[in-house]
Amino acid sequence: LNGGALERLIQILARLPGLGPRSARRAALQLVKKRETALLPLATALEEVARTVRPCRICGNLCEAELCAICADPEREGSQICVVEDVEDLWALERAGAFKGRYHVLGGTLSALDGIGPDKLAIGPLLARLREGGVQEVILALGATVDGQTTAYYIADRLTELPVAVTRLAHGVPVGGELDYLDEGTLTAAFKARRSL
Ligand SMILES: [Zn+2]
Repeated sequence: LNGGALERLIQILARLPGLGPRSARRAALQLVKKRETALLPLATALEEVARTVRPCRICGNLCEAELCAICADPEREGSQICVVEDVEDLWALERAGAFKGRYHVLGGTLSALDGIGPDKLAIGPLLARLREGGVQEVILALGATVDGQTTAYYIADRLTELPVAVTRLAHGVPVGGELDYLDEGTLTAAFKARRSL
């Protein structure tokens, strides 16, 4: 390879989670070999996603409209907001059907090591949302990692001035990045057994 378009594609693919240089080369080769059935449809899909998908104005979920389907749904319980690190956690909770309220996606966790302070996360928008009223409980479904817990305590601290109860999922449940691997029953139980922070 000589730094051309194919090599650029391989380099981009290699940076994706779950792929490395070897898988990236394999994927790129497959795509080129299957021009009509894989390469062109992928190019079209990427272009379409790049053009239409954006964060929900309220919660940060991904959608193609101003509001995501959850925020736009009047049947969802507006008095409860579940705070998650990332969209993949929201999706995992939705797949499990464990929660009927609304969400707020932080976009990560606080991390001194990576230089991620409160201003880099959607904490300000969360506070603004809560100040509008109507929310009685904020459920922190953050990772059991040091950063996840630091973030949970930071948010809980910021919420003390507001008339909302702050709870967390049952202790010992590996949420965050691992939320995806939990089965429906475990998630539902974790929601039922939530406790105040
Ligand atoms: Zn939304």
